Amino acid sequence: MAVTAGSASFGARLDEALRTLGQPAYRARQVREWKYRRLAAGYAEMGNLPAGLRQELGRTVPLSAVEPIQELRSDDGRTTKALLRLADNQLVEAVLMRQQGLNEEAPRNTVCLSSQAGCKMRCSFCATGHGGWRRDLTSDEIADQALHFARVLKGEGEHVTNVVFMGMGEPLDNYDGVIEAIRLLNSREAFGLGARNMTVSTCGLVPAIRRLANEPAQVNLAVSLAATTDERRSELIPLNRRYPIAELLAACDDYARQTRRRVSFEYVLIAGINDSLDEAQRLKALMHGRLAHVNLIPLNPVEGDAYERPDELAVRRFAKVLREGRVPATVRYSKGVDIVAGCGQLRAQRVG
Ligand code: SF4
Repeated sequence: MAVTAGSASFGARLDEALRTLGQPAYRARQVREWKYRRLAAGYAEMGNLPAGLRQELGRTVPLSAVEPIQELRSDDGRTTKALLRLADNQLVEAVLMRQQGLNEEAPRNTVCLSSQAGCKMRCSFCATGHGGWRRDLTSDEIADQALHFARVLKGEGEHVTNVVFMGMGEPLDNYDGVIEAIRLLNSREAFGLGARNMTVSTCGLVPAIRRLANEPAQVNLAVSLAATTDERRSELIPLNRRYPIAELLAACDDYARQTRRRVSFEYVLIAGINDSLDEAQRLKALMHGRLAHVNLIPLNPVEGDAYERPDELAVRRFAKVLREGRVPATVRYSKGVDIVAGCGQLRAQRVG
């Protein structure tokens, strides 16, 4: 039985299969424990289940909704990008970023998840946006990307510490799928990752930001800003025509107030487009007095695009304006650019 978009969830299919087979209710708990906590790669590992049941479940309820078909590791060994096939042959990518802890801090292992096959938003600096939208991912297809890398890390004696919904797709455009994936990843009966270790990114879907603020699991919010005037932002992020900057910032302020979480503003820096000192001054003014942090992300090259990354001096000057204005700002050069795994580069193509 193949998993297709819109088909029943793993949990529902498991419950149904066990009921049909006349199995006691605790079998479902055992299987979930193996899948989410012990990170089994297949039913064969589930030693406390009868062999016949393992075979039957293996035949009827696939344990994972994603199948890795290619993995690339960056030259420094810290970033791994997985190309994953879904049951209907759609391809998506997920990225694992390993960061060493500073001083006594534990290492951070962050998984960047895709929420859609493609994207409708067509941000002009993003490879995913160029390819258009094919479909939303199911909650299992999203959560299983994290489980895939949790198994990889288990082999390295490590575990997933953070999850960011910043891969392919606009997460808040697949609201129900993403919320259910967060629930699976957060639930103690499933993966058990804290909500404060999860970040949902958006290019500015204002009604969904307001809805997200009322969810029980209060995750971090990251907003792709990319410009400080509506004219320029609408060129870079067409959604700005529907939800202009003032409306977006008001929703972010409410999110910060309601959740008591600082909102991150992602600002992709593009040479000659949005990296001037005037733009930095306007960004400083926009951020003034807000519970916010700015991540400056020098553009990652996308094949066939005319946009260019600013040089390091221009990036440093831009950041200096913000810091002098007491706006918390971090320059983040994306990891894994050599394997086309940086922000804005994902397009789910097999390499080689
Ligand atoms: S930046 Fe995000 S929202 Fe914009 S096109 Fe790319 S994937 Fe979609």
